[in-house]
Amino acid sequence: MLNVPSQSFPAPSSQQRVSAGGRSKVPLKQGRSLMDWIRLTKSGKDLTGLKGRLIEVTEEELKKHNKKHDCWICIRGFVYNVTPYMEYHPGGEDELMRAAGSDGTDLFDQVHRWVNYESMLKECLVGRMAVKPAVPKGMLPKSQVTDTLAKEGRSSPSYDWFQTDSLVTIVIYTKQKDINLDSVIVDHQDDSFRAETLIKDYSYIIHIELSHEIEDFSVRVVENVGKIEIVLKKKENTSWKRLGHPLENHNSFIPKKDTGLYYRKCQLISKEDVTHDTKLFCLMLPPSTHFQVPVGQHVYLKLTITGTEIVKPYTPVSDSLLSEFKEPVLLNNKYIYFLIKIYPTGLFTPELDQLQIGDFVSISNPEGNFKISQFQELEDLFLLAAGTGFTPMVKVLNYALTNIPNLRKVKLMFFNKTEDDIIWRSQLEKLAFKDKRFDVEFVLSAPTSEWNGKRGHISPDLLSEFLKRSSDKSEVLICICGPTPFTEQGIRLLHDRNFSEEEIHSFTA
Ligand code: FAD
Ligand code: NAD
Repeated sequence: MLNVPSQSFPAPSSQQRVSAGGRSKVPLKQGRSLMDWIRLTKSGKDLTGLKGRLIEVTEEELKKHNKKHDCWICIRGFVYNVTPYMEYHPGGEDELMRAAGSDGTDLFDQVHRWVNYESMLKECLVGRMAVKPAVPKGMLPKSQVTDTLAKEGRSSPSYDWFQTDSLVTIVIYTKQKDINLDSVIVDHQDDSFRAETLIKDYSYIIHIELSHEIEDFSVRVVENVGKIEIVLKKKENTSWKRLGHPLENHNSFIPKKDTGLYYRKCQLISKEDVTHDTKLFCLMLPPSTHFQVPVGQHVYLKLTITGTEIVKPYTPVSDSLLSEFKEPVLLNNKYIYFLIKIYPTGLFTPELDQLQIGDFVSISNPEGNFKISQFQELEDLFLLAAGTGFTPMVKVLNYALTNIPNLRKVKLMFFNKTEDDIIWRSQLEKLAFKDKRFDVEFVLSAPTSEWNGKRGHISPDLLSEFLKRSSDKSEVLICICGPTPFTEQGIRLLHDRNFSEEEIHSFTA
């Protein structure tokens, strides 16, 4: 893993070329990978130029450090000297310079709020801002929150609690009708009880240290009135005088982007080979967690690699395409499955592959902008997937085939390099045989001479044949996911064929 390949970096196939939010990454010089950066931070070199001293930085001082050879950036009230990091930044030096000598929190959040910069840049920490230029995360002034909500015609949720001898019930009044079990995530870890309710782009958070111990809890949603009930089973049948102590962000209703990613430790239960380089990982959630990943959304996995926390996005799948299709009601929410390709010279996946059964990985709350409401009137669903870009399609496919009443046709065009790279090929073929609405076509970019199927990369010819509607005016959705050049080219070709923005969904970070 530590050998640096001699080709240009990132390699044409590198995940480090994956753009976040549609932005391209630049090639980095050799010896400037994330792993090289981690090594530099562990070398004991003075990266701030302050010999380990932390200082209070005024706005005037920050502004002075606005050049490539002397660049300080403030993120959430902390100032970093990012000069030594310039050449390692996957987005390139110019991108980093946009925030030089100023508060880069918003720019950072727009592009990669999930990157664990505190850990990656800890050796570059210069100090705190003397006067905070930005409001720290999760702490918007009440008036600002209220103004934003008022503009959007939304009022803040609230909560209440009551008890019987054996139970305590926390009731969250969301004041929204489209709330379901996916909308609420509950974690009871150590002394913290945390319930995050997702309401459009906002989070309502209950976060308390409970005054008494509990055995377990369950979550119910009364959809038509938008009420969530979290029922706690008391360990002892005593009367609680109060629910507990408020913790960070308790009873706050804040934009989701300001909440930070919340992680829980999950245990590796099994790991199975699916292809020569892709494995199905099964992770178990802690028993005291209520958590479901909505269709089309991803999570972040976090591992500590040589002392630095590294985070990468992955899209949960079901354990198999066919079992969930046969038994859609049999949902065991304690397990999360991932199809993950192991890149031998990658940073994260070889570490993941090294984990033993019983080891732990942290999993974040779900993220993503795919909305199941895009589906309701759908008649034709076209899925364009390349390599592990197949992962979001798994749940989308299952959901569509089991839940959409008007659905006539689901077609998957699955692009891979060789036959050996095709994930779940026989399951896909069986599903196509069983359900006449579903069809799959495999396209290979580097096939052997024996391959009789389609060849090449995504192209106008392949798409014109594939994208045949069931009727002239049918409601269509096209989902696309894969390496960034594949997705970008696919979107261009779809626009050329006059599909509208609303008819295309691309999966990105
Ligand atoms: P990286 O370190 O990023 O390296 C990847 C490639 O670059 C390898 O080919 C490696 O050989 C090459 N490389 C690395 N260093 C160098 C160097 N110095 N010089 C030349 N080449 C180099 N992936 C999945 O498998 N399953 C999923 O479900 C999934 N879901 C995703 C969801 C989203 C929203 C996104 C954005 C990505 C998803 N990915 C998924 C991709 C995943 O996040 C990672 O990018 C991927 O696992 C690679 O991580 P890595 O750290 O192991 O590899
Ligand atoms: P891969 O290298 O095996 O390539 C699979 C196919 O993609 C190729 O056969 C080819 O048809 C196509 N392709 C590759 N490069 C292309 C290019 N430059 N132009 C046009 N087509 C190209 O793919 P992989 O290693 O499995 O990588 C899968 C990618 O999907 C990764 O970049 C990963 O980050 C991304 N992904 C994204 C999400 C998401 O939700 N955003 C989810 C899963 C995977």
